Amino acid sequence: MTTADAHADYDILIVGGGMVGASLAVALSQAQDTRLRIAVVESTPFDSAQQPSFDARTVALSDSSKVIFQTLGLWDEMRALGVTPIERIHVSDRGHIGSTHLDCREQGVAALGYVVETRVIGEVLTAHINKCENIDLICPARVENVELAADTATVTIKSHEQMERLQAKLVIGADGGESRLRELAGIKTLNLNYGQSALIANVACDRPHRHIAYERFTDSGPMALLPSSDNEGRDNLYALVWTAKPEQAKGIAALDDTEFLQRLQDRFGRRAGRFIRVGSRHLYPLKFLQAREPVRARLAIIGNAAHSLHPVSGQGFNLGLRDVAVLAQQIVDAERRGEDPGRLENLQAYARWRRRDQWQTALSTDSLVRIFSNDFPPLALARNLGLLALDVLPPLKKRLARHAMGYIGRQPRLSRGLPL
Ligand SMILES: Cc1cc2nc3c(=O)[nH]c(=O)nc-3n(C[C@H](O)[C@H](O)[C@H](O)COP(=O)(O)OP(=O)(O)OC[C@H]3O[C@@H](n4cnc5c(N)ncnc54)[C@H](O)[C@@H]3O)c2cc1C
Repeated sequence: MTTADAHADYDILIVGGGMVGASLAVALSQAQDTRLRIAVVESTPFDSAQQPSFDARTVALSDSSKVIFQTLGLWDEMRALGVTPIERIHVSDRGHIGSTHLDCREQGVAALGYVVETRVIGEVLTAHINKCENIDLICPARVENVELAADTATVTIKSHEQMERLQAKLVIGADGGESRLRELAGIKTLNLNYGQSALIANVACDRPHRHIAYERFTDSGPMALLPSSDNEGRDNLYALVWTAKPEQAKGIAALDDTEFLQRLQDRFGRRAGRFIRVGSRHLYPLKFLQAREPVRARLAIIGNAAHSLHPVSGQGFNLGLRDVAVLAQQIVDAERRGEDPGRLENLQAYARWRRRDQWQTALSTDSLVRIFSNDFPPLALARNLGLLALDVLPPLKKRLARHAMGYIGRQPRLSRGLPL
């Protein structure tokens, strides 16, 4: 890391150094032959309790995300800090007979996904950013304005009450669902409010998790249990994601531990065992957002700034990391051809490549929420038939598993294990 001077000139300026923005900075910094000068403007330091990306959450990474991190040389460090493989996923519908399961052995892979704390991802990414000579981390700083001109973009940032103007060939918005950069650029979005909040907490059971994840649909919203472990090697822990109506979720979060565990047991059943302990609880309002224009000349928006999803299928960050893999490749290839990476044609090629995966993942996640949060009897019957059919139709299951593992359409070099 170096310190930015007031008139720094960058090739790439990334607004937002959360999970997606920081991953992009590290990916771009590794194409040493291109000598890209990169800046990351982040409003909240990694070690602040207010850091919204690297917070109390635990996320499920798909196989393709693991391969991307592995290719970037980050995976072993994440594994050393704590990664739990998911070997089986059990999917069920509360109060109905339909259920199915996915097994890594049936799919011929070592794991269907990996459970990691976002703090672990942040720790590894931040350490790499701090080591990189071609990345300036400008933090704390917020973006205040953006001007897109023919040959350059100018971003005004506010840092320690001082305004500063930075110029770059390409500005990338990775500043999350409430993206200020997207707003400043006047990019419109498609928004849907699910009328649900996600309550997250760590819970312990009276038996080991055996690397099984559970997805349970209930009439008030889906719930998931992701197997996890701690520094002391305990293997009876789960990261719980419980979605419910906002008022309901708030009420459940405020229950004392005994009442909370009882309510969870009633709602989830005994398939995973008896819940015996619960940690602190955090609430997240849930909405669907899709930006109508992911790119303009000298501007691209990625990650949650471009698409925010319901966490039911654990795909939000995985999708954002796939944006990173493709955009990094487009930028580096343009640099190598001696082209300007901020050219509209180059960015449009990125947007075309990503369109199918972004829409397919958004639509399948949204349908899952709608179909499974509805107790209209014909719909309940249809979805249970669907779950039963899935269990006896291996090709259908294989397609679902490939999708869940993050392999949709043409794959960029990073998710094929090839360096940028
Ligand atoms: C309960 C829950 C569970 C989830 N589980 C999973 C899962 O299992 N698997 C999965 O793949 N995804 C999961 N997700 C989704 C995942 O968390 C998001 O997709 C991911 O955090 C998006 O990363 P991002 O970097 O795009 O945005 P963010 O995480 O929102 O990061 C944005 C960054 O930009 C910074 N910033 C914001 N505004 C500015 C500004 N004006 N100037 C400078 N910096 C700014 C912020 O400080 C932050 O660091 C889950 C989400 C929730 C809510």
